[in-house]
Amino acid sequence: MSDQVENVVIIGTGCAGLTAAIYTARSSLNPLVLEGPLPGGQLTTTSEVENFPGFPHGVDGFQLTQNMREQATRFGTRFEQALVSSVDFTSMPRKLHLGDRTILAKTVIVATGASPRMTGIPGEKELYGGKGVTTCATCDGAFYRKMEVAVLGGGDSAAEEALFLTRFASKVYLVHRRDSLRASKIMADRAVAHEKIQMVWDTVPVEVLGVKEGAVSGLKVRHVKTNAESVLPVKGIFVAIGHIPNTGPFAPPLDVDEGGYFKPQPGSQVQTNIPGVYVAGDCSDHVYRQAITAAGMGCAAAIEAERWLAEHHG
Ligand code: NAP
Repeated sequence: MSDQVENVVIIGTGCAGLTAAIYTARSSLNPLVLEGPLPGGQLTTTSEVENFPGFPHGVDGFQLTQNMREQATRFGTRFEQALVSSVDFTSMPRKLHLGDRTILAKTVIVATGASPRMTGIPGEKELYGGKGVTTCATCDGAFYRKMEVAVLGGGDSAAEEALFLTRFASKVYLVHRRDSLRASKIMADRAVAHEKIQMVWDTVPVEVLGVKEGAVSGLKVRHVKTNAESVLPVKGIFVAIGHIPNTGPFAPPLDVDEGGYFKPQPGSQVQTNIPGVYVAGDCSDHVYRQAITAAGMGCAAAIEAERWLAEHHG
């Protein structure tokens, strides 16, 4: 174990983590950012971000996080690729175990984001990644040129994925379990009106076909009102049914709510049940879940950490 005690360790490099890094670095706290399995977070798998303030013509999601990273680096943020395996928040400094290594920290900002939720239907796991089932149209859409694909879900992600896929696919089935989209009106209207998108209402996925062949050959679906089953002749299936917060080794000791999201202390968006430990972004926000709100929470966590350090460590 190194004796060096970090002022602030930030876990996660999405909008929340990088914004916390920019703020703490600009306050000369020399933050250390631990980078997990998806550097840049969920924004890197988004195509055009049209609603981040300051970009009137939209901005590429990957580029936006690259810019934030560059900004954080400019003020002295250090980045390290590492996975926290367990934590000990019972004493000061706080301990973050990374396998056989331990990092000591006066304050910690957990900004671990959320991971795509999967349906769990037969064939989904077997054909995930390169075999036809995916959660990222931006990453994999181009593989489905002139093919029919299905998008599962009814939120903004599903609408956005479906619209993006119309650039490549010959037809996009948008399969939703209800008869209206949860997505924002502008996205829903665009998806429903698109000539290449066919809405498949009141329908749930039942099985991904093609396991024996090692590639998706269709999607068996069931109409929830009639129970009639049918097969959509698709080669690609894009799962967009929401996310699960990445609370991993931090909960416990950090409190979570009934949905599994980190639960800040009453009256605060970012303060956890452990003094000097903060949460920010999609790992603790099941309400807004936007790039801009994650960035805002990252900023708030950084300011709180800074104040806490000033109070407790002069
Ligand atoms: P979401 O809003 O939670 O929507 C998830 C969708 O998946 C819902 O329509 C839900 O159905 C459906 N679903 C959930 N579990 C299912 C299951 N087991 N089987 C079938 N369907 C299932 O998630 P999201 O679309 O990822 O959006 C998350 C947040 O990010 C939202 O706040 C959204 O506004 C935001 N977002 C914004 C943008 C943008 O502004 N450009 C883009 C993407 C995401 P029900 O409707 O029946 O619950």
